[in-house]
Amino acid sequence: MLLAAPRGFCAGVQRAIDAVEAALVRFGTPVYVRRPIVHNRAVMRALEAKGAVFVQELDEVPAGAVVIFSAHGVAPAVAREAAERSLIAYDAVCPLVSKVHREVVRHHRAGRHILLIGHDGHPEVEGTLGQVPPGAVSVVQSLGQLRALGLPSSAPVAYAVQTTYSVDEAAVLIAGILDLFDDVQAPATDDICYATTNRQSALRAIAGDSDAIIVVGASFSSNANRLAEIARETGCLSVQLVEDGAALDWALLAGAETVGITSAASTPESSVDDVLALLAGRYDVQVHEHRNAVETMAFKQLRLG
Ligand code: SF4
Repeated sequence: MLLAAPRGFCAGVQRAIDAVEAALVRFGTPVYVRRPIVHNRAVMRALEAKGAVFVQELDEVPAGAVVIFSAHGVAPAVAREAAERSLIAYDAVCPLVSKVHREVVRHHRAGRHILLIGHDGHPEVEGTLGQVPPGAVSVVQSLGQLRALGLPSSAPVAYAVQTTYSVDEAAVLIAGILDLFDDVQAPATDDICYATTNRQSALRAIAGDSDAIIVVGASFSSNANRLAEIARETGCLSVQLVEDGAALDWALLAGAETVGITSAASTPESSVDDVLALLAGRYDVQVHEHRNAVETMAFKQLRLG
């Protein structure tokens, strides 16, 4: 078995989970969380067991209660609504998502139209769109969408990228933007975050030697889905995205001598351990970890003032 590293929790996910746990200690139960704090059901269930209550919208939160916004970031309108409803709100947005927000605002103020490479409807994309007035940003996912915008080649544009986007797919779109427009402003540093980049390249490093690949992560996690897509792109014919061992499709592992395993940035290591334990119960396995990068990134804890 080839175990990709880095895998699992990134610094932003850890900070968001820590924020909910710290709020539960500081304020007691319940602490409300708007939307999944990170895209993983095991994480959400563990926090619910400690007293967190997940809601979709703020109107589900009683006035005066404590609410935490997820790691994906929110539009300023959400923070305003929380203030209007006298909620005690804390924003657990990942600092690397905040960086994209600041860039988008800066480009808008400079008079540029922003092309956001991202998945329409994803909470991070919604939060980024909400930083500027409607129409200031176009979300693009394909070269066809980019061309269909009908913007003149002389239009001053800037691009930004969802932090969990596929590095390779973003590169294709960025090349298309540079090809289509004469005046393009790029992000000061890459928008796709270190954790996404590292997990995608760690998977690529083991994919060629794997007969089957298991991505441990939630079906609604963007970075888990990107990892599964990348595994398929490498030509592996047996790829499965599972949230835990119970979801394993054993038929997909039939005949595989080497199984590659990785996990999304929102997946707890306990879910990977669960999968490994079940595999070890059925097969004679040897686990080799293949480390592609060492991660030292850590963010300051959210202040619950
Ligand atoms: S995946 Fe990247 S942007 Fe998202 S929370 Fe983790 S570090 Fe932050």
